[in-house]
This record gives sequence, C-alpha cells and structure tokens, in this order.
Amino acid sequence: MTQLDRLKTRLGEICDLRAAAAILGWDQQTYMPPGGGAARSEQLATLQRLSHETFISPEVGELLELAAAETADLAYDSDEASLMRVTRRDYQKARKVPPSLVAEIARTTSQGIEVWTNSKAQSDFALFRPVLKRIFQLEQDLARCLEFDEHIYDALLDQYEPGMKTNVLKALFADLRQHLVPLVQSVSQSRRHVDDSALHQLYDPQKQWDFGVEVLKRFGYDLKRGRQDKSAHPFTTSFSVNDVRITTRIDEGFLPSALFSTLHECGHALYEQGVSHSLERTPLGGGASLGIHESQSRLWENLIGRSRGFWQFFFPRLQSIFPQALSKISFEGFYRAINLVQPSLIRVEADEVTYNLHVLLRFELEVEILDNRLNVDDLPEAWNSKMKTYLGMIPPDDTQGVLQDVHWSNGLIGYFPTYTLGNLISTQLFEAATRECPAILQQLEQGEFSELLNWLRRHVHQHGRKFLPTELAERATGKPLQADAYLKYLTEKVADIYGT
Ligand code: ZN
Repeated sequence: MTQLDRLKTRLGEICDLRAAAAILGWDQQTYMPPGGGAARSEQLATLQRLSHETFISPEVGELLELAAAETADLAYDSDEASLMRVTRRDYQKARKVPPSLVAEIARTTSQGIEVWTNSKAQSDFALFRPVLKRIFQLEQDLARCLEFDEHIYDALLDQYEPGMKTNVLKALFADLRQHLVPLVQSVSQSRRHVDDSALHQLYDPQKQWDFGVEVLKRFGYDLKRGRQDKSAHPFTTSFSVNDVRITTRIDEGFLPSALFSTLHECGHALYEQGVSHSLERTPLGGGASLGIHESQSRLWENLIGRSRGFWQFFFPRLQSIFPQALSKISFEGFYRAINLVQPSLIRVEADEVTYNLHVLLRFELEVEILDNRLNVDDLPEAWNSKMKTYLGMIPPDDTQGVLQDVHWSNGLIGYFPTYTLGNLISTQLFEAATRECPAILQQLEQGEFSELLNWLRRHVHQHGRKFLPTELAERATGKPLQADAYLKYLTEKVADIYGT
C-alpha cells in the first residue's frame, strides 16, 4: 500500500462521517418529529467533532508529507495532485483554529439564532445587539487565526470562496453598483406596466409538485440517484454522487415560489450528481465553492427558467395543467410577469435586477464592521440609509430591514457575496456554453437540455473541488471573472421587458 492509499483511506473515513452528519441534517429538516431536536443536536455535534479531530490529527499531517513525494511529478490537474493540493490547504486552515474558539463560536451562534428569532419576531434590534456584537468579535478573532495578507475580510471570505479577495469583490461590486442603480431607476420610470396578478391565484399544490418534477426530469436530474421532499426552507444535500437530494416548499397562492425554488435546487443537485466518480469519498467530491454552486442554481433557475425559450416549450403545458388560472394570460404577459422588476425590502424575494444591490449593502456593512469603521450599535441606521441610496426605500421596521436574514446570527460573515458571485459566474458560463454550442438555445425551445448539461458536466461539474473557483471559471470561459456578461444580460432583458 502506498502512502497516498493510506491517506485516501483516512480521508474516505472522514467523508463517511461527514455524509452521516449530512443525512442526520437532512432528516432533521424533513421528517424528524419536533421532539427529536435535542438528541439530534448531540448526535450532529459528536459526528462533527469526530470528523474534525480525525482530519486535524498529526497522522493526516504525516501522511500528507509522505504522500507528497509520491505525487510530486503528477500533472497539476490530475486527481492525485489536486487531492494533495486541496487537502493540504484544508488541513493547514483547519489546524490554525484552536478548538476552544471553534467551541465558543458554536455556542455563541447557537444562542445567536435563538435570540435573533425572538428579536426578529418582536422587531427589536436591541435584543439581538449584544450577541451580534459578540459574534462579530469572535469572527474577527477567527479571521486573525486564519491569517490574511491584505484585508481581514479576506480570511472570512476564503472559507466560502477559496482564493477570492476583498479588493476583487470591491471592484466587481463598484461595477455592478454603477450600472444597476440607474437600471432600477429606469424601470421605475418606465411607462410599461408589468402585471403579475395572474401568478397570485390558487394553484393546486399536487399539480405544482408534479409539474416541478416534470421539469426536473427534463433538466436531467436523475431520480434514481436523488429524491425531492418538502421542507420549510428549500435546500440541496449530497451524501455521495449517487445520492443527491433536494427539497422544495409550495405556496398555494403564488405559483413562482415552488417552481423557481425547485429549478434552483435542481441546479445545485445537477452539479453534485455530475462530479466525477473518481473523486468519491475524497475531499474533492463536491462543489468548488459556494459561488460556483450558486452559479449552477442560478443558471437553471434564471437563465433557463426565466427565459423565453424555456417557456415556449413549457407555457402551453403549464396552461393545460392550470387552465382556469392561466387561460386569460398571454405568453408575453406570463413571461413579463415572472420577470417583474420591483425594488423590495426583502432579499430572498428580490428580482434578478435588484437582488445584487441587497447583497452589495450587506457586503459593505460587514467590511465596515470588521474594519472597525462601523459599530454594531449603528447597524440599523446604516442599513436603512443604504437601502434608501440603492433601492429608494426605507424599511418601516427592523424585521423587514437589518433583522431579515439568519446569516449573521449563525456566524456566516463573508458569505453573502457568494450569491452575487454565483449570478456573475452563471452568465459568464452560459455565454461561453452558447458560444461553443449555439444549438443549446434552439434546444431550450424544444424542452431539450442535454447539450447544455453536458457542457456544464465537462467544464464545471466533473472537476468537483479540484480547482479554485476563479481558476475554474477562467478555464471554463477563457476569461477572468467579470461583471460584463451579467450586466449585458440584465440590460438587454430589462430593455426588452420594459422598453427602456
Ligand atoms: Zn442556492
């Protein structure tokens, strides 16, 4: 047995522990009775501790050193060289954080979520303030342990988007801000009114579910290696390439809710089902980053699911399923309704154009706090003033403002920008795919997606975590990550729908 084999055996066991924890997490959010909560927290904590301890053990460090000699001559993109490179990076990072800090963060954030839930329900930021202050302090401590060169935010960002830098994000967001703020204003001033009332009617839940499954299958989601269930918040989870599950939620009175969340999660699931089998039970099995993951979900949800081509095939079908609700709306009316642009207070309900302004606001606030330029005490005012600048609205209360997202209470700082990165990467990938295979666009209109899926499989999915996200995007599209493709896509779409 080579040293690399010994290392792979150890890493395989760690993957098993993580997959077991993921199954418990899936069950918790789908079928577990409420009474199971306390025991489940213990079970999850034990599995997570075991996998973490096994990974940071000196034995893994030793095996990494010994196996390095065996893999030194292998090509950069080979499975083995990539495994060594990525595992070494993960290992060094995991060893930098003292277990006492990990435990303190886990304790504080589990309390944080509870306090946030109350504080949001009462729309009282003052309740949340002390624990939020503590969370930001702990995240600053964490960043210092993880180390950084230029910006403290880099260390936190790197956990979700390896290799991404604050300065690169600042430039991307500046570009977005410069173009999106006037674009939103031009929509508000447009004389063309988009009416989405047809979407707010009664839609039979079982029929919504069935239609979603029909589209999932068409997209290429393999139900022999996956399944869909219901949960309060839709998510995707993977226990192996051959078991990738999604969830959805259904709103009887609003058609887009289940439909687009199903397409979104399907995009995540197609990615996980497409990872090369040779990367199974290694740290390379899974997505390259949150941003790349989100690029896959956004591509299927928006670039496909909100496109004319897609609905040319599916609208007649949808009309036949919901004849009463959809008989009076034209194809064009429906297409416009699902693409309505309207500044709103809540990020998760935002349309494609305003969405990234919500993310920009959070990114700026996080950076200012970590830089000690903004005090947590002043967050609500800072939030409202940025909302006014970017979206022209001021939240009437903190529930619809600074308290709306769970992320900060959970210690997820440096996470929000990955949503926008996903949007940018999705269009850059789609542009590259349709340039290389123009037939993709005609196939959409026939409900046929295999060529697009195959392109994504080749350029993105199969590689798992082998490459850094920026590396992967550049290899797939031939250029570094930019906002250009995204801005072009949005500007053209808005001009088409609003006549701007
Ligand atoms: Zn997502």
